[in-house]
Amino acid sequence: MNILVLNAGSSSLKYQLINMENESILAKGSAEKIGNKDSFITHKYGNEKIMDESFFENHEVVVDNVLNFLTTHVISSIDEIKAIGHRIVHGGELFKHAAIIDDSVIKGIEDCSDLAPLHNPAHLKGIYACKKLNIPMVAVFDTAFHQTMPEECFIYPIPYEFYEKYKIRKYGFHGTSHKYVSQRASEILEKNLDDLNIITCHLGNGASLCAIKNGKSYNTSMGFTPLAGVMMGTRSGDIDPAIISYLMEKENLTSKQIDDILNKKSGLLGISGISNDCRDIENEAWNNGNKRAQLALDKFGLRVKETLGSYAAILNGVDAIVFTAGLGEMSPETREFICKDLEHFGIKLDYNLNKSIRGKEAIISSSDSKTTVLVVPTNEELMIARETMELVSQ
Ligand code: ADP
Repeated sequence: MNILVLNAGSSSLKYQLINMENESILAKGSAEKIGNKDSFITHKYGNEKIMDESFFENHEVVVDNVLNFLTTHVISSIDEIKAIGHRIVHGGELFKHAAIIDDSVIKGIEDCSDLAPLHNPAHLKGIYACKKLNIPMVAVFDTAFHQTMPEECFIYPIPYEFYEKYKIRKYGFHGTSHKYVSQRASEILEKNLDDLNIITCHLGNGASLCAIKNGKSYNTSMGFTPLAGVMMGTRSGDIDPAIISYLMEKENLTSKQIDDILNKKSGLLGISGISNDCRDIENEAWNNGNKRAQLALDKFGLRVKETLGSYAAILNGVDAIVFTAGLGEMSPETREFICKDLEHFGIKLDYNLNKSIRGKEAIISSSDSKTTVLVVPTNEELMIARETMELVSQ
């Protein structure tokens, strides 16, 4: 049985076709910079790699391209795809588990769109594009892993009636990724996940940290929406909430406009004024001495470090720190910035080793570090495929 997993990010779409009999990947690929003129998609199957540098205007065009590629090179027809698993960022209070997609689930995902304006609409485009194929589809929600958070972690210090009335609480996101990398860390460390306290740092275009206590999500940096927590590519993360009403009055902004500024024009892009892509910012900072680019990088690292420190304070001992996603996997400089001067916390990086690790599993702490620091490339697709398989097999 093959499962096709679609993972549509804000500016990317990754897919994998997985043979669930042995969990082997039959084909995989990723589209990057969707919506930009220099967008491209890479398909890999066996030892073959195909790159298509067409202009991918939106996620729907990418989905069509993926299915066309698969039926041309990997499988004889779409009948060989038993189910499609979609990664969905926000399930609100409606979805506590993965769900088989029908019209009511689509409506539910639509209803949650205003909570994740960069993500849910992109996922829905993927779902609509696949609907005509008549293949069972499953929605796997990033919010599910964090359902184990205790009330003192998920409640906001605003009048309690707003939780009762509107369910305003911390939901947390990237759950599938935090779950996968914490499981992999326990396997690498050869320890039972239930016995481990881990801080997982998912640092991509969207970024979040998770404090995992005895294998379960105990606290996480994203909140009611994926706008909360550390600073991100285009998102502000946590700021003084009074800035919002102050700016709305000064600039005569509507709530939609302020939402747009905080979701799409802030973060690395907002401070640097250059890009939301860390590679562009690093290039400007390091090769052209651009001070605002350097400031953006420093602020990003600092926000992650501050959050990491606060989680170390609530976990009563940290067995492992795991870096994952674009920056966590590919930027040794970011990892060094975050981990340096934390020796008194028992966190000691092997700086030379760290420099050489990009995009592969590795332990990057020194042998005398109390906390083991790891790089674990995330595999949300495999987690989604397993949950999809479970639901369609029932
Ligand atoms: P998303 O899926 O949310 O779009 P990713 O996990 O793909 O995000 O991460 C994207 C981020 O990772 C971008 O800021 C990008 O610049 C950064 N990144 C990817 N590769 C590298 C690299 N080689 N060096 C530095 N940063 C990188």
